Amino acid sequence: MKNEELKKRDLEVLWHPCTQMKDHETLPLIPIKRAYGVYLEDFEENIFIDAVSSWWVNIFGHTNAYINEKIKEQLNSLEHVILAGFTHEPVVKLSERLVELTPDGLSKCFYSDNGSSAIEVTLKMSYHAHKNDKKIGKDIFVSLTNSYHGETIGALSVGDVELYKQTYEPLLLKTIQTPVPSDTSVTSAKEAAQKFEELCKERSHEISAIILEPLVQGAGYMHMYDREFLVLVREICSRYDVHLIADEVMVGFGRTGELFACESAGITPDFMVLSKGLTGGYLPLSVVLTSDEIYAKFYCDYNEHKAFLHSHSYTGNALACAAANATLDIFEKDNVIEQNRKTAAYMAEKLEKFKGLKNVASIRQTGMICAIDLKGYKSEDRVGLRVYTYALEHGVLLRPLGHVVYFMPPYTITKEEIDRVMDTAYDAISAL
Ligand SMILES: *Cc1c(COP(=O)(O)O)cnc(C)c1O
Repeated sequence: MKNEELKKRDLEVLWHPCTQMKDHETLPLIPIKRAYGVYLEDFEENIFIDAVSSWWVNIFGHTNAYINEKIKEQLNSLEHVILAGFTHEPVVKLSERLVELTPDGLSKCFYSDNGSSAIEVTLKMSYHAHKNDKKIGKDIFVSLTNSYHGETIGALSVGDVELYKQTYEPLLLKTIQTPVPSDTSVTSAKEAAQKFEELCKERSHEISAIILEPLVQGAGYMHMYDREFLVLVREICSRYDVHLIADEVMVGFGRTGELFACESAGITPDFMVLSKGLTGGYLPLSVVLTSDEIYAKFYCDYNEHKAFLHSHSYTGNALACAAANATLDIFEKDNVIEQNRKTAAYMAEKLEKFKGLKNVASIRQTGMICAIDLKGYKSEDRVGLRVYTYALEHGVLLRPLGHVVYFMPPYTITKEEIDRVMDTAYDAISAL
């Protein structure tokens, strides 16, 4: 049988991400035959609602007819071309649109393949910009406690989730973590900003940039904070000549209720990093947007130490750009942000009843991200795994982060599908 055969062949040759492979001695892999809308279908006619958007990337459903068509169209004329010295229409068009849609002042796009590599690009660009400008490098990056920016060495260095970072500590760059606001109040936003300002007062001459996830720290257990923090940090950065890097890899493209989370605070960062939803969850692509001011620091007669000589083989891949353009078309033609606000309001209603469960410590929500903290368990209880397993048996893909059960579905999810997801999670948590 196909299902059993694939599981067996897989474990012979594959090593899966973020997985203790030995767990698969008891926890079966799930081969997926096809996917459509919010559904994943296996080889035994089970269907699962993808309530985590396949690791937060899928925004308009799987095998979306429109995006499929646009990729196929592109495939007939150009699949890929070297982006050094050459260009193509999909990448030009995408860049024009991103410059138009992102906060005022972001005017140049630099492409890469995934979130982590775009973080590497930004860190190097920030360091290099200061160096070109002042002849001296500022070699410390500041990030927030509990932050996550990916898992390549540089990205891991600015992250602060122990689970991913601890083992590799001796390999990492010099970074400092300043406290993230402890909750969603304006007071804690102000307190945290003050701590950052104190740090700048003392060491801004060494600090290249602060990098943060605006409004929601994703892999940091869906921790949320108020927009006021962004307003204050923007102002502090400008005053101390420290770059502000907004990592919108997860929150970008409508997840929080605005197209970009920075908009909620009305700020323009010096660098904005986008990936995940950029191609609608179809193909790997990421982009760093920055200002003319930063760009100008690299623009001069040829001098091998001044140009930004960073490159990836697949930079600006034409198929990925076509998927991204199709994704932006959907934002343009369907009133996505407005519709997301309605869906988020419905999720908020449904979330209320979790408050009544005795093992629920708290619930929170920003746009189409909802999170539930469970209480009373130790890490060896592996409650996340138990919720995951229960939900799968009931046709829903949830993937809790430790003791945090969260929902981050594709935007195309219907009310009935939300009911199924939330009711299943409710039953799973009740059954613990
Ligand atoms: C996922 C994520 C990254 C890393 O992106 P990859 O494509 O997984 O390398 C970086 N920052 C944030 C906020 C993310 O959620």
